[in-house]
Amino acid sequence: MIDVLVAGGGPVGLATAIRCALAGLTVTVAEPRTAPVDKACGEGVMPAAVRRLATLGVTPDGYPLRGIRYLDGRHQADALFRHEAGLGVRRTVLHAALAERAAALGVTAAPVRIGAFEQHPDHVTAAGLEARYLVAADGLHSAIRRALEREAMEREAMAGAAAGRQPARHGALAPGRGRSVAGRRPPPRYGLRRHYRVAPWSDLVEVYWTRGAEAYVTPVSADVIGVALLCSRLGGPGGPGTDAAADGFAARLAAFPALLDRLGGAVPASALRGAGPLRQDVHRRVYGRVLLVGDASGYLDALTGEGIGVGLAQADALAACLAAGRPADYERAWRHVSSPAWRLTAGLLWSRNQPLLAPHIVPAAQRLPWLFATLVNHAAQA
Ligand SMILES: Cc1cc2nc3c(=O)[nH]c(=O)nc-3n(C[C@H](O)[C@H](O)[C@H](O)COP(=O)(O)OP(=O)(O)OC[C@H]3O[C@@H](n4cnc5c(N)ncnc54)[C@H](O)[C@@H]3O)c2cc1C
Repeated sequence: MIDVLVAGGGPVGLATAIRCALAGLTVTVAEPRTAPVDKACGEGVMPAAVRRLATLGVTPDGYPLRGIRYLDGRHQADALFRHEAGLGVRRTVLHAALAERAAALGVTAAPVRIGAFEQHPDHVTAAGLEARYLVAADGLHSAIRRALEREAMEREAMAGAAAGRQPARHGALAPGRGRSVAGRRPPPRYGLRRHYRVAPWSDLVEVYWTRGAEAYVTPVSADVIGVALLCSRLGGPGGPGTDAAADGFAARLAAFPALLDRLGGAVPASALRGAGPLRQDVHRRVYGRVLLVGDASGYLDALTGEGIGVGLAQADALAACLAAGRPADYERAWRHVSSPAWRLTAGLLWSRNQPLLAPHIVPAAQRLPWLFATLVNHAAQA
C-alpha cells in the first residue's frame, strides 16, 4: 500500500506529490492526460509562488515579471513587486518541470482517471490502487469532490429522515468568514486564453479593463505572450477548441483597442482554451481519508492571478498534515493559507461587479499608486 494517491497531475497535484515525497511518503499521481499538460491560464506566477516552487526544487524557464499594470483606455497604473520578481511561464513548461522533479523523487505516475473510489477505516482504494490517503487535485470541476458532496448529503438526509428532521440547507461558505454567500451571486465568470507570437512589449503583467471583461497579457518567453480573457459569458457555438470560439475570442478582443494595437497582426501561437464557471464554493475539504486541494478545494476568480500560488501553499499545508498523520488538521490549515488571497479577490471582484464602482478601479489605482502597490504586493506575497 502506498501512502498517498494524488488524483490530478496539474501544478497543485504535482506540488502536493513532491512535498509528500520530500516528507518521506510514498506517492502515486494519477493523471489521464498526456504530458505536458496544458490548461487555460493567465500563466503569471506571483513572486511568493516562484519562491515556493524553488523550495520544491522546481525552477522552470519563463519570463521574469516586475509587476502589474492596469489599463482602461484612458488611465494606466503600474505597481512593481517590492521584493523578488514573478514569472510568466507556459503551463506546459511548468508541468514538465514539476513532473520531472516528482519523478526524480520517486513519485510514480499512473496514466488513469480516478473514477470510483472506496474509503475503508485505514485506507482508500481507487483505480486498482490502495493508499492511506486519496488527495483530490482534479481541478475546478472535481468529480471526486462532487461524489463526496453527494454522498455526504445523502447520508445527512438519511440521518435527518431517521430523526424526523427537515433536510438542512447548506449555503456555500467563504473561507475564513464562515458567511453564507448563496443566493447573492453575480453571473458566473469564465476564462479563455490564447498565445501570440510577438516580442513582449512590457515586463509587467498588463490587465486591460473594459465594462464586462478583463484581458490579461503575460509574457511567457522572448517571443510569445499569452492573452487571457475573463468574462461573464463564453458565448458562441461550440467549445473553446472550435473555429467559432476562436472567432468569438477575436471579436471579444475588439473591446480592447489598445491591446489590439499592441498585438498588431501577431500570429496565434496556441489553440484557444477555456475554463469555467470559475467560482466553485466548497463546503469542506476533509472527508476522512480523502482530502481536496487546489482548484478542487474551492475557487473564486482568476482576477488577481493567485491560483497557482494559493494552490502551492495548500499543497504544503496538506503534505505537512499527512506527514504528521493528522489529516483532520488540514481544514484549518487550508483556511489559514487560502483566506488572504480569497479576501483580496473577493473584494476586487465585488468592486468589479458594482456598476457605479467598476469604472473607477483603474482611475483609483492611478490616483493612489501607494495603495495599488500595497494591494498588488499583498497578492504577490499571499
Ligand atoms: C483564464 C484563467 C486564467 C488564470 N490565470 C492565472 C494566473 O495568471 N496565475 C495563477 O496563479 N493562476 C491563474 N489561474 C488559476 C490556475 O490556472 C489554477 O488555479 C491552477 O491551474 C490550479 O491547479 P490545479 O492543479 O488545482 O488544477 P488543474 O490545473 O486544473 O489540474 C487538474 C488536473 O487534474 C486532472 N484530472 C481531472 N479529473 C481527474 C480525475 N478524475 N482523475 C485524475 N486526474 C484528473 C486534469 O487532467 C488536470 O491535469 C487562471 C485560471 C484561469 C481559468
